[in-house]
Amino acid sequence: MTPLLELINVDARYGPFRALFDVSLSIQPGAVMALLGPNGSGKTTLARVASGLVRPSAGTVRFDGTDFSGSETYEFARTGIFHAVEGRSIFATLSVDENLELALGRGRSRTEVSEAKDVAYALFPRLAERRNQIAGTLSGGEQRMLSLARVLAEQPRLLIADELSLGLAPIIVDSVYETLAHIRDAGTTLLIVEQHVGHALAIADEAVVLAKGSVKYAGAAEGAAAYSTI
Ligand code: ATP
Repeated sequence: MTPLLELINVDARYGPFRALFDVSLSIQPGAVMALLGPNGSGKTTLARVASGLVRPSAGTVRFDGTDFSGSETYEFARTGIFHAVEGRSIFATLSVDENLELALGRGRSRTEVSEAKDVAYALFPRLAERRNQIAGTLSGGEQRMLSLARVLAEQPRLLIADELSLGLAPIIVDSVYETLAHIRDAGTTLLIVEQHVGHALAIADEAVVLAKGSVKYAGAAEGAAAYSTI
């Protein structure tokens, strides 16, 4: 089967600083990959290369068999790659309901928007209870849920979840992971960048562990724990 995402011998630089060295990985459609490693090991850089935010200085990026190595970020986005970052991608001054309307509204009729919102609220009862609350006044965990509800509604082909559990209470991290499982079950391929190794490996099929910009382990998720003591 053609991998959904393939990085082949990728190098990445920030000016003179080299952040990735000869990194290769491949994710099959529908799979969940955990991307692990200590602070500064290059996880976010790799995620940015995969979503077109950083252009590799060497190597190849393929999405669904097509070479995107020299492409612009918007061309990556058009393929259905969605990069969710820890900074919350919501409109702080709008209500929960208005945030969902905006996210779901594109290309849908009024009835379809209303149905899509019902789906989101059924998955996130906490958001349903707070539908009229201004999003900026939600707790950190609830804001993360709202941004994930928006992702779920977009149905991306590849979701790059970049440290979504950072700074959240353990119980909220559990609900973020339940949401990621819903997103996977709806057919989205996942690349999960994570410091919570246990959570990430519990949901992942495969894992890549980075150290100082190089791949230290690539293989089954079960085998990664020994390499990812951070
Ligand atoms: P963390 O878990 O701390 O986010 P990470 O594994 O995601 O770390 P990166 O953020 O990819 O690692 O950083 C890899 C290296 O690249 C680090 O040494 C970092 O200082 C450097 N780096 C990251 N972003 C930039 C940038 N915009 N300009 C210059 N150097 C950068």
